[in-house]
Amino acid sequence: MGFRDVIIIGGGLSGLTSAIHLSKAGLHVTIIEKSKYPVHKVCGEYVSNEVLPYLESLGADPASLHPSRINRLVISDHYGKTLETALPLGGFGISRYAFDQFLMQRVLESGVVVIEDTVTNVFFENDRFFIDTNSNGVFSAPVVLGAYGKRAALDSKLGRNFMNEKSPWLAVKGHYKGDFPVDTVGLHNFDGGYCGVSKVENDILNICYLVSYESFKNFKKIETHQEEVLFRNQHLKEIFQNSTLLFDKPLTISQISFSDKEKVLNHILMTGDTAGLIHPLCGNGMAMAIQSAQLASEKVLYYFGEGNRNRIAMEHAYTKAWNKLFSGRMRTGRVLSKLFQSEKLSATMMKGLILFPGLLSGIIRRTHGKPLKAAAECA
Ligand SMILES: Cc1cc2nc3c(=O)[nH]c(=O)nc-3n(C[C@H](O)[C@H](O)[C@H](O)COP(=O)(O)OP(=O)(O)OC[C@H]3O[C@@H](n4cnc5c(N)ncnc54)[C@H](O)[C@@H]3O)c2cc1C
Repeated sequence: MGFRDVIIIGGGLSGLTSAIHLSKAGLHVTIIEKSKYPVHKVCGEYVSNEVLPYLESLGADPASLHPSRINRLVISDHYGKTLETALPLGGFGISRYAFDQFLMQRVLESGVVVIEDTVTNVFFENDRFFIDTNSNGVFSAPVVLGAYGKRAALDSKLGRNFMNEKSPWLAVKGHYKGDFPVDTVGLHNFDGGYCGVSKVENDILNICYLVSYESFKNFKKIETHQEEVLFRNQHLKEIFQNSTLLFDKPLTISQISFSDKEKVLNHILMTGDTAGLIHPLCGNGMAMAIQSAQLASEKVLYYFGEGNRNRIAMEHAYTKAWNKLFSGRMRTGRVLSKLFQSEKLSATMMKGLILFPGLLSGIIRRTHGKPLKAAAECA
């Protein structure tokens, strides 16, 4: 097996971005990704524009995929009362099917080795990592990034606490043919959850919702739950009834956890959802995944610099920078989610937001960041 500086476990947004960044800076990088691309992923597919300067600097500007350009947010409470606002920075709508595949192509062009396999365990001995895979044996490197998403069997192997906690959320997503303003992202509440609606490339409508298991468990079928619960919000009823599903059936995932997670564990720098997942209603998880990839890449490049080989210093610097950038956003996301779940609290919040519209821009600012620096500026 060839020489490598960095192994990245997981080739989602965060793993792919780090791989491009590190290999462009001259490191030998291997990604181990379990899925065969392209693949659909459960996601709201609204990406904040804050990532654009950084992606452009990596030669990975997604403009060629013709994403929808989004600059308006419409939210509604359980009773369908709405509030509309401009999104200060705006964003774009792109399917994960297209976006992850596009980044994977950039990764391959930049000379990164991509192994299609599942990582089953990671060991750290004598200042090196040893990575077990399902079918390709053991890989070794001095630095490893954990970018394997929100939940994996590997988390249990690594003894992560959040795996022992209840994760009472499940999510449902589908692509539809239907009418919806191309410049708008909708965030519609219903009892026990909330639903994001926006256009992606090719005029496709993405509808994705998060619901507590508690609310869902009384309904055996997704369709029945939609009709009995989501349709009580008039906007959702109209959107669903006037749209045609383009998948055979909606995609679902369960056991979604928003708990605190270690940013570094067993010397692995965790990025993206592996370090922490923000509530999707903030529409910032993908931007955070990409920004944490940038952060980790900067720290790793410094570590490989002449005379800088201090692993503990790299780990502290990464953890500190992660907390500074994201801890506040994660807290705001948790509070908002609590408010959105409760029928009464969400109605009260809507009344407050209608009276003081400036509050909504404040909330958006608290859950988003500033445009990221270009890669060359931060190396
Ligand atoms: C319902 C829902 C809606 C969302 N909507 C939005 C939204 O509209 N906007 C937004 O910005 N964010 C949204 N998010 C958040 C966003 O999806 C995530 O933050 C983002 O996908 C994180 O990227 P990542 O690279 O960390 O993880 P992922 O994209 O999940 O990538 C992880 C990769 O690791 C691979 N992998 C896992 N285990 C292993 C293993 N053992 N070995 C090898 N490979 C492995 C997986 O196959 C996967 O490709 C939403 C999340 C949810 C749950």
